Amino acid sequence: MSHVFPRQINAAPVKAVSSQGCYITDETGKRYFDGSGGAAVSCLGHGDADVIRAIQEQTAQMAFAHTGFFTSDPAEDLADLLISQAPDGLDRVYFVSGGSEAVEAAIKLARQYHIENGEPQRRHLIARRQSYHGNTLGALAVGGNQWRRAQFEPILVDVTHIAPCYEYVGRSDDETPHEYGQRVAQELEDEILRLGPDTVMAFVAEPVVGATMGVVPAVPGYFKRVREICDTYGVLLILDEVMCGMGRTGHLFACTADDVSPDILCIAKGLGAGYQPIGAMMCSKDIYDTLGQGSGFFQHGHTYMGHPVACAAGKAVVSAILNRGLLNNVHARSEQLFGALNSKFAQHPHIGDIRGRGLFVGLEFVENRDTKRPFDPSVKIAARLKKAAFDAGLICYPMSGTRDGKHGDHLLLAPPFILTESETDELVAKLGDAMHALPELSDI
Ligand code: PMP
Repeated sequence: MSHVFPRQINAAPVKAVSSQGCYITDETGKRYFDGSGGAAVSCLGHGDADVIRAIQEQTAQMAFAHTGFFTSDPAEDLADLLISQAPDGLDRVYFVSGGSEAVEAAIKLARQYHIENGEPQRRHLIARRQSYHGNTLGALAVGGNQWRRAQFEPILVDVTHIAPCYEYVGRSDDETPHEYGQRVAQELEDEILRLGPDTVMAFVAEPVVGATMGVVPAVPGYFKRVREICDTYGVLLILDEVMCGMGRTGHLFACTADDVSPDILCIAKGLGAGYQPIGAMMCSKDIYDTLGQGSGFFQHGHTYMGHPVACAAGKAVVSAILNRGLLNNVHARSEQLFGALNSKFAQHPHIGDIRGRGLFVGLEFVENRDTKRPFDPSVKIAARLKKAAFDAGLICYPMSGTRDGKHGDHLLLAPPFILTESETDELVAKLGDAMHALPELSDI
């Protein structure tokens, strides 16, 4: 009997025993194509020799030295590397162990910055509906997914949520994409004015929404307008690139495609690529200097922050992405993947939208393509597709709750950046097999 507390109580999860490249093998010898990199984590695929060597060498050299006393070469080197590639203005890196920790740190840093900047009344956070920013209480409060929040609502800090930029569902026929983006960005200004401009501390958003909506980039111009609004009212812009960052969209930092620089940026997942648990919060020089000239202390911290082995792995991962030309492969395979998905599924009666950037791809399932009406939640498209895909040897990431936490189904693909041409074809073929297993989707 297992004593591991699994994600699904009373379930008996399949035991994975080895992994290489784009594949994971279970204890029976069955191979699975890792079409979503777990949850957009394994960007280098499995078994990367350089990352393994970096971890082994750092473990032998020095596994741990507490950041209350020391910095380390791996942490310094990784921070330098990230800053050298980061959007303008980001100047310092705070290493943590994952995405939720990065978001928690961002929220607390925003609050402390305003206090030390002489504006202690700034305490309101604004985020977006249908968003996910992590499962710890602060990050959960920022997230706007009703299903995830519901039972914890009474113990969450107060955050107000505005509309996401979700063109497929939100744009009306008489609006251009640009007009739509400006309209939803306006909700931010309206909310700031409603709360009182000098009481708002930050706005939090994902440049490309991952898990909760199935890979939804904003329309051009949306984030530029958001940046302007934040600047006008002294509100910090926190971008969460935990899922979409680290090259997933074809840019090391996803927000460069929107031509915006945040005040605080959160990364994780692809930073450790699954080899080590690591996340980071990056912040502007102004924020860092304000604390530096003020209390000189960020009132936060974790035992494993800046872990030397995790940082050594992160450095090897980012170096591999940059030095092996993997971003070029992301672009090339992305073109192939979108071409194949469109030619196979674009006319599918129950696929309403195929979207994304780079190797970050979403498919939205609808009961009716013309009205975009989702399937009834009782049909459980996402859960059944996840199982059918797993049975067919494909790990992909179907989710429900696309529209409002209760309705809608989508599927997320996030294959490793080392994906080859033939593996791209295999991914699409396996997805087709999985869909065939569901009577509602077998119409291909
Ligand atoms: N932010 C986003 C956008 C995420 O997708 C996730 C994880 N899916 C998180 C934060 C939380 O990251 P973690 O699970 O590493 O805590």
